[in-house]
Order: sequence, then C-alpha cells, then structure tokens
Amino acid sequence: MRKEAYLYRKLKKDYVQCLECEHYCAIPPGGKGRCGVKRNIGGKLMLVVYGRPVAVHVDPVEKKPLFHFLPGGGVFSIGTFGCNFTCKFCQNWEISQVRDFDDQRDYIGEDWPPEKIVDYCRRRSIPMIAYTYNEPVVFFEYAYDTAKLAHQYGIRNIFVSSGFETEQAIDMIEPYLDAANIDLKSFSDRFYREISGARLKPVLRNIEYMVKKTRIWVEVTTLFIPGLNDSPEEMRDIAQFLVGISPDLPWHVSAFYPTYLMTDRPPTPPETLLRAYEIGKEAGLHYVYVGNILSPEHEATYCPHCGAPVIKRFGYHTQVLWREPGVCPVCGHRLAGVWE
Ligand SMILES: [Zn+2]
Repeated sequence: MRKEAYLYRKLKKDYVQCLECEHYCAIPPGGKGRCGVKRNIGGKLMLVVYGRPVAVHVDPVEKKPLFHFLPGGGVFSIGTFGCNFTCKFCQNWEISQVRDFDDQRDYIGEDWPPEKIVDYCRRRSIPMIAYTYNEPVVFFEYAYDTAKLAHQYGIRNIFVSSGFETEQAIDMIEPYLDAANIDLKSFSDRFYREISGARLKPVLRNIEYMVKKTRIWVEVTTLFIPGLNDSPEEMRDIAQFLVGISPDLPWHVSAFYPTYLMTDRPPTPPETLLRAYEIGKEAGLHYVYVGNILSPEHEATYCPHCGAPVIKRFGYHTQVLWREPGVCPVCGHRLAGVWE
C-alpha cells in the first residue's frame, strides 16, 4: 500500500527530498530513494510498502537483542523490503536489499495494517512490537502509525536500527518509541562508506542523542568481521565512545557469519568476541554481552556495584535472580534498564 511520507520537502521540477534518513535523497519524478521503498510518484514522496511486511515473527526480546528491556518478553516483529544501507554482510539481505519491484503488481508482503498488528498483540498479550529485520526508518510512516496506536493500549515499541535517522525523524517518533538497539558497525568512516554505503558520523550522533536527550532506552550492537573491524584498537575506540556517553549503555558484541556478498572470510572466532568483551569491561562499560555464540558466562548481567549475577541467560532463555525487578539481590543496587 502507498502512503505519503511524513517528512519530505518539494524541490524544483517535481523533485522531492526525503528528510527521514541522513542520505537526504533528492528524487526525480518516477525515481526512488536509496532505500528503494520511498518513491516520487507524481511529485509526492510515497512509502510503497505501508502495511505490507515481508517478515513477521514473534521473538523473545533477547533476540533483538535487548537485555535490559522487559526480559523474557515477547515481541511482535516486522520488517519490509528495502534499506538505506547496502551492507555486504547483511544477514537479512533477501528482504533488505530488494528495491526494484513494481508495488502495484509484485508481491510486496502480507497484509498487516497497524490496526491488525495492535489487535493481534492485544489478543495474545504480546507486550512489545519491534520494527526490525530491515531498517525501520525506511518504513517510517508504517512504524510511526503502528507505534502510536500501540501506545494507546500500553504496548511498547522497539526500533532495531542502523542509526542513520535524521534528528527530525527521531524527534517525531520519540513519544512512541520505548527502546532501540542501534548497530554501531565500525568506528571507521571508510568501513561505513565502502561496506555499508553510509557514513559513520550520523550514527555516532544518534546514539549519543538518543541516550542523552530522549527517553528511549538504548543498547548498541557491533558485529565483528574478521580482518575488517576486529582490531583491538577499533574495539577500544568503540568501547571508549560508548562509555563516554554512559557506562550503563549495554554493548552487544556479536559474531559474523559469511553471507550475501561477504563469503570470502570465516565466521568470527569466539576468541574475538571474548577479547571485545574484555576490552569493553576494561573501558568501564558495566554491561557487555557476547552474541551469536553460546557463552552463558558472557551473556549474564552482573551487578556493576558488587559483581553478583542478576540475570542469567542461556540462548534466549532468561532467568532472573532478583527479588525486585532490576534490583541486585545481594547489595540492593538498581540496575539501569526498563524492568517492568
Ligand atoms: Zn550488587
């Protein structure tokens, strides 16, 4: 379904400029933005996948991953075609990298208007909705309408994002957005340009902005790729950047698996993630977690005050050890997060 974009402006000669992500695409009549799903149709910027997700699943919130946000809770999760990034290692490339389709004729997804999603969640008592799999800002209108409606019924909203939104887009959805996992793919602008078709700076700005200036709960994920972004120096740069924003900002260090256009290297060895884990902790981050490998010791949440385990995890299974949500059972320290 088509829906006129919420954030764009009209330029000369029927061009339009999208104001939702940092590409600020200027799109000629009949053209499309870099995401492929915002298109200039008759001088208006239209989202063409509104209400039409191609991925629909109910996942545990730990899979997003969010470890400090309603642990163990279920999340209705949707994603559409299209993305503003072109990561060569994208794990969801089969949907995210689809841009060339005829929205009037081709299959563009199942029929899930916002009302149907919220109704489904209410009937099954699903407490959260995630906009994920591809980049949610590319289907901003759909995410915004769903999130706004969901809030009327106390359902929380999550973005799993590469963090390339404009501040304007963040500000607009902020009242309805409760949590975000932001990918920080590298600390190198060159990596962002060459591997992902984007830029580093806006991502750094957005992480800091969301943590410091909004009520959105934020966690950060970095996928380490052998030979590309896995040097101890780069790990340290990322960890120091994050700790500078807040030592309570959880950092998920995750394993790469060969896929899509990046099949020329092996999966990330577990030792790489354990090194990142140590570097993150040494830098002063209170919460570092390994992902995409099984290591319960490095997936547990420990009290930053006394070191006692507070939440244990095994894969997506979660066991809380507290008596009161978010409170260390040993020393009474309150852990950062949204626990109920
Ligand atoms: Zn404690």
